[in-house]
Formats: sequence, C-alpha cells, structure tokens
Amino acid sequence: MFDITTSGELLAEFMAEVRDQRFDTTGRFHGPFASGAPAIFASQAARMGARVAYAGRVGDDGFGDLIVARLRDDGIDVGAVQRDLERPTGTAFVSYQADGSRRFIFNLAHSAAGQQTLDEDQLERLAACRYCHVMGSSLSSPAAIAIVRRLVARVRDNGGQISFDPNVRDELIERPGVREALLELVAGCDIFLPSDADLEWLAAAGEDAERTAQRLLSEQRMSLLVLKRAAAGCRAYTASEVIEVPGLSVEEVDPTGAGDCFGGALIAALAAGCELHQALRLANAAGAHAVTVLGPMEGCSDLATLEQRLAAVGETQ
Ligand code: ATP
Ligand code: MG
Repeated sequence: MFDITTSGELLAEFMAEVRDQRFDTTGRFHGPFASGAPAIFASQAARMGARVAYAGRVGDDGFGDLIVARLRDDGIDVGAVQRDLERPTGTAFVSYQADGSRRFIFNLAHSAAGQQTLDEDQLERLAACRYCHVMGSSLSSPAAIAIVRRLVARVRDNGGQISFDPNVRDELIERPGVREALLELVAGCDIFLPSDADLEWLAAAGEDAERTAQRLLSEQRMSLLVLKRAAAGCRAYTASEVIEVPGLSVEEVDPTGAGDCFGGALIAALAAGCELHQALRLANAAGAHAVTVLGPMEGCSDLATLEQRLAAVGETQ
C-alpha cells in the first residue's frame, strides 16, 4: 500500500542562463534537470518519508536515465515508469523574463511522455494508495486524461482520497477536453490546491477569491481547499474553519516548483498523521525552500530542512 500515487509528465528541463534570454538566438542553457510537475510533487513527498509510487514514461536515453535515477534516489517506486524505445524523453526549455514571467518551449506530445499508457497490473498496484495526486498540467491530451480518469476512479473505489492542483495554464486550456477534465477534477477531488489565478478562473461573475473558495467547498465534494498565495503563504478552508498561515520570508532565486513542493509536503504531512495547521506550516516551508534553489526539483526538501526553516522563524507562524 502506498501513501501517495501520482502520474504524469516526466521531462528534462533546460534553463536559460541569463534573464530575457531568447529562443531565437544562440545562448547558453543549464541542464538537463529532472522535471515535470507531478515528479516535483512526488520527490518532495518522498523526501519527507512518504511511500510514493509514480506512473510516467521516459525515452530509452540519457535524459530518461537521469529522471529515473532521480526518482529512485528519492525512494519513489518507479515500477510504472515506462521506457519508450522509439521516442525520446520529453524536454522543456525555459527562459525567465525580467518581469518574473517564464517562457517555455515544450516537447511533450511527440515525446515518450505523450505515449504514456497504464496497463491493468500497473493500475491495480498504483490504486492501492491513501492519496492520489493529480496535476492539471498532466491533463494535456485525451489519452493523458483517460489515464487520470481510470486511476482516479480506481483509487476512489479503493477508498483513497484525490488531491488536485489545477495549475491552469493558458496554453493547455483550449485543447480538446482539457477544460472539462479540469472541471471534473474540481468537482471530484477531496483536497483542492489552487493558486490565486486558478481560483480566478473558477470564479463566477463578480465573485472574489473568498466567495469562490467557500462556494466550492459547500457545493463540491472537497473537504479541504488550500489557496496557495506565493510569498504571502496559504489559506486553508474546511467546513468548520479558515486557517491562514503567513509565508516564510526568503530570497527568491527560482519560483519553479514552489506550488508542486507545497502540495507534496502537504499531502506527505497529512499522510503521516500531522494535524492540518502543522501540515500547512510544513507545506509553506517547502514552498519557500523551493524558491531559494535553482532548478525545478533541486529545491525539494526533507523534514529536517523544513523544521529548521520553521524553527528559524519561531512561533510567529
Ligand atoms: P507554481 O508556479 O509552482 O505553479 P503556484 O502558483 O502553484 O506555483 P505559489 O503560491 O506560487 O503556487 O507557491 C506555492 C507556495 O510556496 C506558497 O503558498 C508559499 O507557501 C510558497 N512560496 C512561493 N513563493 C514564495 C516566496 N517568494 N516566499 C515564500 N514562500 C513562497
Ligand atoms: Mg502551481
């Protein structure tokens, strides 16, 4: 039995060396780094001691070796990480802009990541978990959506809970079936982890974030909604309370992966039996730690690192 199962894109990421670096001009890139939103989530959770299983697909190449070795080193079960003998591992090139935004070139649909399947044996094994985490970024094609749907349904049949980080991205939302799949998961998840922008996407006309959160909590299945608020920390909503936890003050080096690490730490802490407030503090610390380190998965942290960060800010949290 796993604590947490997750599935989705595995990719090698390359980061432009300087800000505003262009893709149509020759420049230098750092990498490859193991990446993919569900992988960052999984790494964070596993480093905190959770038993994590992963389903994904990489190519039969060096990038695939790098990613599988990284997941394994973190203690993640990679029994359902497939090797594609024909297509290369997915890649992403990222360039940070002076205004803080990011530009990407992805090669996912035509890579190994875009060919992921999940056979009945793998499904059976993975669905024996307490939490199944879904990233909105993994709902990128009809085939990927079908995998998530099967996994979610089986986990639910087994009595497990679904956590969902919508990670709504403009470039994905217009693809066939993506909007419907996102809304289906909003309606069907137990734990919902939106950012401010995700909640705006779900807001009814004239509704503020507060009202949207309360409405989702009362109308949908979810019993916990945690709003990620970047440097401001997070705010959690349950049927009986609202818990606000301020962010930790850190120097931001690389924002990539903050939300994924936040989610990984939160679910790992809940799986370990932490009460909600403490789980939120650990999640905030994981998100804050992630932004201090360059590289998508390089900022994942173990429990001792998080406790040190929290001890440094004292009992103000
Ligand atoms: P991502 O860009 O990874 O998708 P997100 O939009 O899902 O991120 P954020 O709210 O940006 O989520 O970050 C997640 C969490 O990480 C925040 O709730 C907070 O706890 C922590 N965090 C993010 N940025 C900072 C920061 N600059 N300082 C301190 N904590 C931060
Ligand atoms: Mg996010």
